[in-house]
Amino acid sequence: MSPSYDVIVLGLGGMGSAAAHHLAARGARVLGLEKFGPVHQRGSSHGGSRITRQSYFEDPAYVPLLLRSYELYDRLERDTGRTVATLCGGVMLGRPDSRTVAGSLLSARTWDLPHEMLDAEEIRRRFPTLTPAADEVALYEARAGLVRPENTVAAQLQLATRGGAELRFQEPVTRWETLPGGRGVRVHTPEDTYTAGQLVICPGAWAPGLLADLGVPFTIERQVMYWFAPDGGTAPYTPARHPVYIWEDAAGVQIYGFPAIDGPGGGAKVAFFRKGTVCTPETIERTVHDDEVRAMADQVGRLLPGLPGRFLKAATCMYSNTPDEHFVITRHPAHPDAVTVACGFSGHGFKFVPVVGEILADLALTGETGHPIELFDPGRLTAAPAPAHGGAR
Ligand SMILES: Cc1cc2nc3c(=O)[nH]c(=O)nc-3n(C[C@H](O)[C@H](O)[C@H](O)COP(=O)(O)OP(=O)(O)OC[C@H]3O[C@@H](n4cnc5c(N)ncnc54)[C@H](O)[C@@H]3O)c2cc1C
Repeated sequence: MSPSYDVIVLGLGGMGSAAAHHLAARGARVLGLEKFGPVHQRGSSHGGSRITRQSYFEDPAYVPLLLRSYELYDRLERDTGRTVATLCGGVMLGRPDSRTVAGSLLSARTWDLPHEMLDAEEIRRRFPTLTPAADEVALYEARAGLVRPENTVAAQLQLATRGGAELRFQEPVTRWETLPGGRGVRVHTPEDTYTAGQLVICPGAWAPGLLADLGVPFTIERQVMYWFAPDGGTAPYTPARHPVYIWEDAAGVQIYGFPAIDGPGGGAKVAFFRKGTVCTPETIERTVHDDEVRAMADQVGRLLPGLPGRFLKAATCMYSNTPDEHFVITRHPAHPDAVTVACGFSGHGFKFVPVVGEILADLALTGETGHPIELFDPGRLTAAPAPAHGGAR
């Protein structure tokens, strides 16, 4: 039997690589176990870019976590020399009463975040790539922008290793159990069996199988990202001129997009926010069909006259949705002394990756965290109330 560890981290995607880094930085003996290779394309943390923003339309409760996440993204960049964030500005666009606009404004006002409200004419003047309808407005946030999932995961894996973590790839966890008498956990893989005081589970889209006993009805959703080469070239679409945007149309459909960050040949990425099809990691259709490309092209052409231009490529990715689209971050209700879980990020988790790593390290090492995570208690989603949290080790 292999030597034992302070903490085993299951899954080294966005959240797991962050947890491994923060745990190792605090001096814990960490083993990370990942089903696939480092920085792979089969989960939820790939595709080159993710929107980050602070005026959070989903709920003002996320804002303190975002402020901390921004600090930690900065630190990640400094500590590794990798580019992980580009704050090119962002517009949250739609009718004034849309969730995108009204919700963003609520967060900005609640937390006194720097922002500007722009009418349609002002949006067109400042950002000629965008042509909103006359009755649409936007909340503009200069500190919004994009983070890079692959660079972020690579940076966190690098720092985890630098901190002494042992990371094992192509080694899936097949089962685990807690040991009697509060002696921690035993974790099985096809290669070996490991023991540790604590287990941190960051399973992404594999949550329904790995965390069935949480009782949370997760829905795994296939999402498609599309890259188009704008008519007339990418120059007007560079980060200096073209912001990230989330646009909600009159029917409530949200699309979002990015500047062209991969040079003249790379195009600009756009996608529907939600509106995916239900799948599992085993059954997800990885081929993107012509009718899907056409639907995206139609929608994007309504807001961005230079797009769709020429279709370049598409890729699939998975959302792990909870019924209310808020996260699940908690001590495992059935194993509160030894197991911590982070899942159900519902298509908006990447901007939080570093702060989630910090929270998971807090929970695994001390049983509690100073960060506000009440919203993420799974008890809100399960029929029976969850047992009390945070039992000390
Ligand atoms: C198309 C798309 C667009 C998105 N856009 C945004 C955005 O603009 N802004 C934003 O903030 N968020 C966005 N998100 C959401 C964000 O990317 C996710 O919330 C985040 O990546 C989830 O990270 P994770 O660690 O939970 O999952 P993952 O990164 O998938 O990590 C889970 C890991 O667990 C591993 N694993 C599973 N089972 C096992 C096992 N048995 N043993 C060992 N390892 C295992 C998997 O292989 C995987 O590596 C988007 C997601 C998608 C798909």
